[in-house]
This record gives sequence, structure tokens and C-alpha cells, in this order.
Amino acid sequence: MKIVAKGKMPGIHQSVSLRGVPKAFGTTRQSPGMLPFARAVCISFLLLAGCATVYNPVTRREERTLYTVEQEIELGKQVAEQIEKENEICEDKADYVNRVGQLVASNSDRDDIAYSFKIIDSGEINAFALPGGFIYIYKGLLDIIEEPELAAVLGHEIGHVAARHGIKRVQAVFGYQLLAIVALVALGDKPEAGQIQQIANDIFTLVILGYSREDEFQADRLGTIYAHRGGYDPRGMVRLLEKLGEQSRGQPITFLSTHPPIEDRISQVEIVISALESEESR
Ligand SMILES: [Zn+2]
Repeated sequence: MKIVAKGKMPGIHQSVSLRGVPKAFGTTRQSPGMLPFARAVCISFLLLAGCATVYNPVTRREERTLYTVEQEIELGKQVAEQIEKENEICEDKADYVNRVGQLVASNSDRDDIAYSFKIIDSGEINAFALPGGFIYIYKGLLDIIEEPELAAVLGHEIGHVAARHGIKRVQAVFGYQLLAIVALVALGDKPEAGQIQQIANDIFTLVILGYSREDEFQADRLGTIYAHRGGYDPRGMVRLLEKLGEQSRGQPITFLSTHPPIEDRISQVEIVISALESEESR
């Protein structure tokens, strides 16, 4: 979700800074015992294994992918580690957020990954998902929403993960380039700190700001459906979007051209809700 709130851009999926991190991720692990040949084989395997066909349960189509599910998770994990070094994770309400998130996730189309839900201790009105199911909500947003709206926002983020929006963006922009780094870090190697930090920043910006309008509409639709399957009122998504709209009122909308207007998002969600309601009355 992308709107402007409190003079900053945007509501959801805004970039948080990863700059200024003194250490690169993965630098604490070592693998001193691994022979150079074994390591080379491992890396080759990891690279080659990346070219696969994956069934996308959302589109119900086979999709060609460079990244296996394991590599998607590893990539997300590394960016998540960076985020958690740079930001305070809030324990207050953590159980609540995790309970709602897991309930909605268990009703999503994708069950080949373990989802995690954490709260970033910041007043920003924001939430985002990394490839591999690492989902974050900011305290600023959490504080202004009720449970069905929380189910909606987490559902939206789960939707991005389920439809593989993030990893597909990474793949489109970086191709194999990134996979080599991921493989090295997974093996405990120590790539140059600045290089890794830059890559983490790039991935973060890409998966947070790089979604297309259609990705956003699809995440709204999926989030509404998943929350509903989890037993929540699907109108939670509409109320969430309205609240985000209110928060952005009076502030200039500086968001990217890919950001769909909030009214358009609400009308798309209304179509989904009508379909759910007519299904129920049958
Ligand atoms: Zn989104």
C-alpha cells in the first residue's frame, strides 16, 4: 500500500533506511573447514538449482524462476537481518500481531514458507513484506487500526508474498547477479561490507517501492479474501484504506506513478467484497 502520511511518503511500503549500518549481514558466520573445491561445487549447485519452474498458486500457472523457494527465503532472511539491526523491534502487542498474521497466512494460497510478523517501533504509518514471508508493520499504523483492519493489512502483505511479487521484482532486476552473493553468504563467506549493504538497500527499495499498480490491486484483493477466509469482516480492508486516506489528507501525494489512487483501490476491493457476499448468500 502506498500513500503519503504525516508529510512523509508513503503510507505502506515506504523505504526505511538501511544506510549507515556498520556491519554487513552474514559477516559473523565462518566456514573455515570447507575446502575450496567443495565450496565451488556448493556455489555452482546453488546457482544452477535456481533455474526452476515454480507453481504460482495465485495465478494458478507455472512460472519460470531463477530463485528456488529456499533461495527466496535466504534472501529475505538476510535483508530482514539488516532491517532488524537498523530498527527497534517492538515486543508489545507482538503476540497479537503474530496471532492475526498466522491466522490470515494459514488461509492464503501459499503454504511452502513460514511467515513471520514483527512490529517496528516507529510512528510511521507503514507495513511491508520481504521475499520469503518476512512481514513488518510499524507501530504508528498498528496504533490506529482495529483487528479486522490489521487482518487486512497483513493479508495485503501476505498477498504480495503469495503472488511472489517481491522475488519476481528482484529476479527481473538482478537476475543471477544477486544469487551468487546469497550463495556466498549462505556458506558463511564474507563479501565486502559496503557491497552487501548496497545490495540490501537496493533489494529493500525494489521490493518496497517497485511493485506495479496491478501488484498493489492484486495484494488488496488477495488480502481481502485471506482475511475473510480467516473469519474477519472483509470490510476491514475498506476501513483500512479509508483510514490511510484520512492520514494522507492535506499532505502532498509524492508517491511514485505506480501508486494507485486510494479511491480506485477501494472500488476494486468493493468488487471483491460483493463477490464474497454473493458467494455466501448462495
Ligand atoms: Zn502493497
